[in-house]
Amino acid sequence: MRGAVLYGPRDVRFEERDVPRITKPTDAILRISAACVCGSDLWPYRGIQPIAQPTPMGHEYCGIVEEVGSAVTSVKPGQFVIGSFFASDNTCPHCRFDYQSSCQQRELVSGAQAPQLRVPLADGTLVATSATPSNDLLPSLLTLSDVMGTGWFAADAANVKPGFTVLAVGDGAVGLLGVLSAQQMGAKRIIAMSRNESRQKLAREFGATDIVTERGEEGVARIKELTNGIGADSVLECVGTQESMMQAISSTRPGGHVGYVGVPHGVELDGQELFLAHVHLHGGPAPVRRYLPDLIDLVWNKKINPGKVFDLTLPLDQVAEGYRAMDERRAIKTLLRP
Ligand SMILES: [Zn+2]
Repeated sequence: MRGAVLYGPRDVRFEERDVPRITKPTDAILRISAACVCGSDLWPYRGIQPIAQPTPMGHEYCGIVEEVGSAVTSVKPGQFVIGSFFASDNTCPHCRFDYQSSCQQRELVSGAQAPQLRVPLADGTLVATSATPSNDLLPSLLTLSDVMGTGWFAADAANVKPGFTVLAVGDGAVGLLGVLSAQQMGAKRIIAMSRNESRQKLAREFGATDIVTERGEEGVARIKELTNGIGADSVLECVGTQESMMQAISSTRPGGHVGYVGVPHGVELDGQELFLAHVHLHGGPAPVRRYLPDLIDLVWNKKINPGKVFDLTLPLDQVAEGYRAMDERRAIKTLLRP
């Protein structure tokens, strides 16, 4: 089979790879229905997070189960399934506290930008839908594997409650779906920070009530202005840079919450500044598995349409263009069809 392999900065190749096989009795092999490029794939793609060797790419996936190992009992061949980017057993103490992305047995799923994929710990990781979905649901179901679950976790970690004022820092797919999540959780006012017209438009469609184009200290001043000098109740940090993190913390009211899901790159927090900010900080790799059943219901019943973040769909063999379009911000997110 052929799949995406990253060789170095801006060098993604579509090339022959080994067909995945069951290696442990707890594995499953999927036939991928749709995969995509993640904002976090851009860190190694840009060389900011160097890779040691050619690396099969892709960790967002949904598809049909082709084969299961002898110990797998919860999913069977023929079912349509979605799983998290971290495989988890869903039984260890961390999983029982609903932090499946900190599972004692966690394994990063990789190589999903391909026709077939091996998923470890299939029983704990995969959730089957009640039937095979129609094609129009595929993009939204695919988002539940990472990007939508991550946006939802950002809002959940930021303690979004009905009536709250929420701020989303970052207008990538996660930030936009954080807006959608906040709207679903009943936020009254949702401020999105974006300078890009098509992203602003999508943010509004997802429920944003205000758009702020300023950044850094100016951005913080603008948020304060919009909130009568108080700051937002809940702030979703969906970028992972020093500037975005400080923007998030400084825009939060004392006692408010920051949910941070942008993978931090070079972020350093000053203890005293944090002490005086009086904010709750909670984040990390989203425990997507926690939200899968509920989010599948919301998509299945057409209550949400997170698949709108895909503004570029390409056949899998054009994966390199999918990366380029996102890197150059010509696309918000690329969906790949094997
Ligand atoms: Zn676990």
